[in-house]
Amino acid sequence: MNNFLNLIKSIETVFQQEEEKEARIEVQRIYPLITEKFECPMCGKYYTTKKSLKTHLTIDCQNQEQFHCPFCPQKLKHKRSMMRHINNVHSKQKNVTSDSM
Ligand SMILES: [Zn+2]
Ligand SMILES: [Zn+2]
Repeated sequence: MNNFLNLIKSIETVFQQEEEKEARIEVQRIYPLITEKFECPMCGKYYTTKKSLKTHLTIDCQNQEQFHCPFCPQKLKHKRSMMRHINNVHSKQKNVTSDSM
């Protein structure tokens, strides 16, 4: 009889381990979806909470290295705004694009 009890116990343990494993897989599957939700609109960094994104926007993002426009002396705070600046200001200038076109 003891053997039977032991068998049930071991089966229960296996089931528990399986459940834990499944639960862990489920967490791993869901975790990326519930985290990294808040993207900084300026530099594209991800933040898990709105608060940390706000902190980043008000402190970190403002103090980031400035980007120098390669076509003019203008400095821009963000890579994205520099790309936009280049697109808006310089891509229309003929002497910037290739002469062969
Ligand atoms: Zn940012
Ligand atoms: Zn420029």
